[in-house]
Amino acid sequence: MKKKLIAGNWKMNGSLAANDKLLKDILAGLGQAACQMAVGVPAVYLSQCQALLAGTAIDLAAQDISAHEVGAYTGEISGAMLKEFGVRYVIVGHSERRQYHGETDEVVALKAQRALGCGITPIVCVGETLAEREAGKTDEVVKRQLAAVIHTNGHCISEVVVAYEPVWAIGTGKTATPEMAQQVHAVLRAQLKAASDHADRIKLLYGGSMNAANAASLLAQPDIDGGLIGGAALKAQDFLTIIAAAH
Ligand code: PEP
Repeated sequence: MKKKLIAGNWKMNGSLAANDKLLKDILAGLGQAACQMAVGVPAVYLSQCQALLAGTAIDLAAQDISAHEVGAYTGEISGAMLKEFGVRYVIVGHSERRQYHGETDEVVALKAQRALGCGITPIVCVGETLAEREAGKTDEVVKRQLAAVIHTNGHCISEVVVAYEPVWAIGTGKTATPEMAQQVHAVLRAQLKAASDHADRIKLLYGGSMNAANAASLLAQPDIDGGLIGGAALKAQDFLTIIAAAH
């Protein structure tokens, strides 16, 4: 059976001291987890977190990757650089990067390709805004976002992780109901099935105010294979409760 994946996205939070405490608290409370786990940390803390997580069951994730391979791209971090720090996953196309950094579907698709080329699994985020949902455009938007990634990555699409993150649910405390989330996940699964014979093994995560109280009901849905967790990943006990719900 496919193991679920619980991935934290710390966003621009943390400090050397806070990261040390958070990871040590999580590791101390972690029993035999049934799921795969990762934490997406700010790039400057990759080295620190790589050391703290060495030999543990928690993988390291980055929050972004350059669409370029190498060269004059000030401030950018390449896939090869991430790989040197033991990064296993990278979040691409998070709505905050689409919104605040102008990342287009095409850039997101290129970033996913760059990650795959470096042996890093991209966690590709898709999701609609509130206005798009209210206009009945949810399926159209997420399918367009995913289509770009499928188009650019061809048969490698079976190697990606997809996260459905309704923009209106991120950091707002508003969560999609399990039924709403499942409905969109089924649409994404069908699109992936049309693109790949191996679509069943692609993990589809839900993200958007997933927390200790609602994780179990979301993770019980047939096409929800895990979670991408923002705020609740910054609290050791909440993150551990979500991990325990993922079996
Ligand atoms: C996210 O940033 O990917 C996210 C899901 O955030 P939150 O859980 O805080 O809504």
